[in-house]
Amino acid sequence: METIVIVGGGAGGLELATRLGDTLGKSARARVLLIDRAPGHFWKPLLHTVASGKCDPQVTQVEFAAQAAAHHFDFVQGEVMAVDRAGRSIELAPRCSDGLEVQPRRRLPYDKLVLALGSVTNFFNVPGAAEHVLTLENVNQAEAFRKRFVAACIQAGERKARGDAAQGQVHVVIVGGGATGVELAAELSHSARALAQYKVHALDPLRDVRISVIERGKFLLPHLHPRQSVRAARHLTSLGIDVLTETAVSSVSPHAVHDAAGHAHRADLTLWAAGVEGPALCGTLGLPVNRINQIVVDATLRAPGDTAIYALGDCASYTCPVKGAVPPRAQVAHQQAMFLADLLARRDAPGGLDFRYRDYGSLVSLGPLAAVGVLSGAVTGRRIQVSGATARLLYRLMYQKHLLALHGMARMAVHTLVDWLRAKLVPPVKLY
Ligand SMILES: Cc1cc2nc3c(=O)[nH]c(=O)nc-3n(C[C@H](O)[C@H](O)[C@H](O)COP(=O)(O)OP(=O)(O)OC[C@H]3O[C@@H](n4cnc5c(N)ncnc54)[C@H](O)[C@@H]3O)c2cc1C
Repeated sequence: METIVIVGGGAGGLELATRLGDTLGKSARARVLLIDRAPGHFWKPLLHTVASGKCDPQVTQVEFAAQAAAHHFDFVQGEVMAVDRAGRSIELAPRCSDGLEVQPRRRLPYDKLVLALGSVTNFFNVPGAAEHVLTLENVNQAEAFRKRFVAACIQAGERKARGDAAQGQVHVVIVGGGATGVELAAELSHSARALAQYKVHALDPLRDVRISVIERGKFLLPHLHPRQSVRAARHLTSLGIDVLTETAVSSVSPHAVHDAAGHAHRADLTLWAAGVEGPALCGTLGLPVNRINQIVVDATLRAPGDTAIYALGDCASYTCPVKGAVPPRAQVAHQQAMFLADLLARRDAPGGLDFRYRDYGSLVSLGPLAAVGVLSGAVTGRRIQVSGATARLLYRLMYQKHLLALHGMARMAVHTLVDWLRAKLVPPVKLY
């Protein structure tokens, strides 16, 4: 029986493992094996809600072992360190828990390998960035940011109570005015208010919690229409957030972000959300990569030069002959996962044998009640700008679609109901 190994159980990889398990795994036509360094899956576009304390990842994440048991695939937890293309095997690092080695270094064979490794933060060689900023690549980093934010607010509140007005403030600088930066800034501002309401800190959330978004380009959210970018900037400003566009960051020091014009922006916490690149592993395979280290793939998502290796999502570089390079987005990872599921199950791929990216638009959350974005008609190609409560509802549906791909309609409905009930029972943000 053929073994299909999928490395990475993120937005694309877990959907692919689930679909292939339900088809090939269930009918024993292939062994489907998912490998991830983490024990569970959290949908990355919601990481900003973990960083702001709105979402508890322990409750929301999908445990890989449980998903594997329900969908006829196997799961192995481990970090892939190397791929032996000639021997068709992958090498896993030793697995440790609390400093103890639980499993030694291992090799696992594959007949087909799908790399769905996601991306890592791109610091663009800005001096001090890698050393002094926090990033939002996974649940652990989002939790680390949240804890640092709550602690910084409590400490500043103490200083303020002692009469030290200058130090009685928290300055958060978010570098990058794309979706991640904008969504985090809006959520954080709401969190600061909620934490003040519950007396977790003694700061005035508007005056003392200073949040800035620094963007190099002329507009926030450069992938949207400028009208939507202006709307988003206005909304952030109404929340008390400083929006600095056309500001290039030149270096980062422990307590400040410096821009090219020579200004130093005080930063107790700096979050870098300025761009992504392929993980280091992509560059070690001897396969072609692009300038940001993503594996170049052809229209069947196969790496040229190795008929056994496919790549999808953020770690892959696919250039559509008509629309150009596809962006690193959950929507792309989802479509590529569905395409590969059909291709590997040897059914006809949707729309023919080549992957075709359909841009359905993009939505960006501006906090609990607002969003902006654009919807693109797949058939007519017309683009419709949306904002406000409608956009917010559509934004929520994006996650429902992911749950639907993972769990089917009935379980997706139960998850949604449980989330809704839970939100009624617990405070709006994590308080510790
Ligand atoms: C805060 C934030 C907000 C975002 N908002 C949006 C949005 O609104 N809309 C949108 O379309 N996109 C959004 N994105 C982008 C979107 O999350 C990604 O494009 C999408 O998750 C990519 O899916 P993927 O399957 O390629 O990788 P990922 O979802 O990143 O998953 C990669 C998986 O691979 C595992 N892995 C990596 N390396 C190894 C290894 N060596 N060994 C074992 N396992 C490994 C990781 O643990 C992870 O589980 C957002 C991203 C962030 C961070």
